[in-house]
Amino acid sequence: QVSLENYLQINFDKGDGLVPAIVQHAYNGEVLMQGYMNQEALLATLTQAQAYFYSRSKQRLWRKGETSNHVLHVQSIHTDCDQDSLLVMALPAGPTCHLDRRSCFASQRASPLLVQLMDTIHARQQEANPNSYTVQLLQQGVARVAQKVGEEGVEVALAAVSGDNSQLLNESADLLYHLLVLLAARDVHLNEVLLTLAKRQSAA
Ligand code: AMP
Ligand code: ZN
Ligand code: ZN
Ligand code: ZN
Repeated sequence: QVSLENYLQINFDKGDGLVPAIVQHAYNGEVLMQGYMNQEALLATLTQAQAYFYSRSKQRLWRKGETSNHVLHVQSIHTDCDQDSLLVMALPAGPTCHLDRRSCFASQRASPLLVQLMDTIHARQQEANPNSYTVQLLQQGVARVAQKVGEEGVEVALAAVSGDNSQLLNESADLLYHLLVLLAARDVHLNEVLLTLAKRQSAA
């Protein structure tokens, strides 16, 4: 992890003062954009927790979102094995691409549906739109969401033993959705759950 204590170790010489910086969505890992940072851009990014780049076309320091307001809130910065490129984990305030797309790499494989659903739930949480069922559910508090998860779990179990697969599909979808809302209500990210699973797999 790159910090104010160690950022001078980044090797800018190889790239005439610039290193490539790849930006990934901090929650779902989607590659959002790539830019270049010089030392000034890296320092600004570290001190302000917003992504700054060196614009080769404008030949100046460029704060992503300076005109569009689609800033990148930086969660952490990492470097590679030989300290000549950067990986920026960030939460975008809007579409990162200036063509109004979420990612500049629009053709990359879409993120798994569960990840997209979790993103949608997080977005609803921010917007607080009163017409949204998700928002209404979240407003009733963690205990109510937890109760829903319990109910849906029982419904899944009943559908499974009844032998009706179409009911099992619907109840499973209900359960997954409500589980994601519960995670959001407790501010736990899907990635943390998936990492927990991955750790068990590597231990086995
Ligand atoms: P913004 O930084 O979002 O306010 O956009 C300002 C200008 O920066 C745009 O008009 C583009 O020229 C450029 N720009 C914005 N986003 C990107 C990006 N993801 N990749 C490359 N250039 C960008
Ligand atoms: Zn390298
Ligand atoms: Zn773009
Ligand atoms: Zn149900």
